[in-house]
Amino acid sequence: MSLYRDDAVVLRTYKLGEADRIVVLYTRNRGKVRAVAKGVRRTKSKFGARLEPASTVHLQLYEGRNLDIVTQAETATVYSNLRSDLDRFGRASVLLEIIDQVAIEGEANPALFNVLTGALSELDREGNPLVVPAFVAKVLVLEGVQPLLDACVRCGTEDDLVSIDLSEGGVLCRADRRGEPISEATREAFRLVFGNQVRRVLDTTPDAIAVEMERLASRMIEQHLERRLKSSTVFAEHLQS
Ligand SMILES: [Zn+2]
Repeated sequence: MSLYRDDAVVLRTYKLGEADRIVVLYTRNRGKVRAVAKGVRRTKSKFGARLEPASTVHLQLYEGRNLDIVTQAETATVYSNLRSDLDRFGRASVLLEIIDQVAIEGEANPALFNVLTGALSELDREGNPLVVPAFVAKVLVLEGVQPLLDACVRCGTEDDLVSIDLSEGGVLCRADRRGEPISEATREAFRLVFGNQVRRVLDTTPDAIAVEMERLASRMIEQHLERRLKSSTVFAEHLQS
């Protein structure tokens, strides 16, 4: 067995046997990793408290046959506001769940790791609800999916754009509408977010728009994952035949 070090964010944990816990990690250099933290549910455990969801840690692990084993964990960033504020922690949980679903085991993506740790820090600092849609936009761009937001994806008109459907590739006019309704203000805010002008949006967007953006962002991620799942199923069927 070989020993390695990596930085990681704890995505989720679950119980294993009497005293152990499985931790699902998103690591900087190895992507998603499942590891065992032995003895962490005993009161004397040295690193049990450091391996809670959203914890960002420096880890040392043994490479196991099936699961790696955590041998050391040091807290890298303390998110005190995140832990004490239910709204912020709820949003952090959404980020963790998205990474858990998007990330592929054993496939490193340091850029995605940085997007995640950046968003967690931002949530801890400001707790702004727009952190989630901004995060989703960055994840989609890294996944190679950027919705068209300037013109109807079916007919090309720039007028009366009323809905968005990621499986169509972006926004649609009233005549071609499908997917989710989108208001003009929300479409404009998303244009800025995808255009990397998050700061401007954070400072100027009213709460009602932020709520609509959060809802649409989670819908976009769902649509992206559904589509990815479908294409991988088609691919698997193709391989079998
Ligand atoms: Zn159209």
